[in-house]
Amino acid sequence: MRIFDPHIHMTSRTTDDYERMAAAGVRAVVEPAFWLGQPRTSPDSFADYFDSIIGWEPFRAAQFGVRHHATIALNPKEANDPRCRPVLDLLPRYLEKDGVVAVGEIGYDSMTPAEDEAFAAQLALAVDHELPAMVHTPHRDKARGVERSLAVVAESGIDPGRVVLDHLNEVTAGLVRDSGCWLGFSIYPDTKMSPPRMVELLRLYGTERMLVNSAADWGRSDPLLTRATGEAMLLAGFTADDVDRVLWRNPVEFYAQSGRLDLTGVDDADAPGGAGGQPGAGGAGGAAPAGGTFAGNSILRGGS
Ligand SMILES: [Zn+2]
Repeated sequence: MRIFDPHIHMTSRTTDDYERMAAAGVRAVVEPAFWLGQPRTSPDSFADYFDSIIGWEPFRAAQFGVRHHATIALNPKEANDPRCRPVLDLLPRYLEKDGVVAVGEIGYDSMTPAEDEAFAAQLALAVDHELPAMVHTPHRDKARGVERSLAVVAESGIDPGRVVLDHLNEVTAGLVRDSGCWLGFSIYPDTKMSPPRMVELLRLYGTERMLVNSAADWGRSDPLLTRATGEAMLLAGFTADDVDRVLWRNPVEFYAQSGRLDLTGVDDADAPGGAGGQPGAGGAGGAAPAGGTFAGNSILRGGS
């Protein structure tokens, strides 16, 4: 089973996770820019974070044969903080970088006027930079959040086929299905979607434009729930080709719209499932090959 996790915050995960993910078939990931769990106090803090998810993190992933790309944005939560908003001026520079495959996560948290403004401004950036957009949908008041997000997307003029609305569930999936946007589902250990619920949604809506991710971060989450979903699909009678479509070909198709997805060496359908990627293949978005150092540092204890 080859797996592409289209939404995972690897910077908050350990090397053990990379090992387990590679062994489970995860060969590629996209890391969306998000908040830290506590407020940032200046745009400089974003710059270091962005540099890390397009520099150090791809290097770290490559040590385990996992290809890493990123999406860049001011996240919905921090769009409300006047200390953070100047980062909007920094974004165009980052959106030109090789390993950046979308603008995201953007969208709504509490649906404030400040979020409206940041959301629209960043959809405009996606259009300008010819990048797809990854839209986070709010965890509270979900249906209204999705309806409003779809309205902002429509107003922006971006092609809906270049937009994914993420963190959907049974209540919101239908609203997005008819919009032409992609549908993203985050599979969590005990909230939101579970593998069996995801299987039901795939039965209902089919496999087209469907993306499944773990959205694993520093909170309670599990980077192997993509694999668990693939297994639940097989048990429910989906074919191996259906699983490959949902867990590999769909995210590839979505992010390839950036023109920057580089899966050389990890995308061979016949490669033995598991580790994926040959150590040393490296290369994506400036990712360094396995081994060696990044800015003089390695993942080895002691730094070299
Ligand atoms: Zn996220």
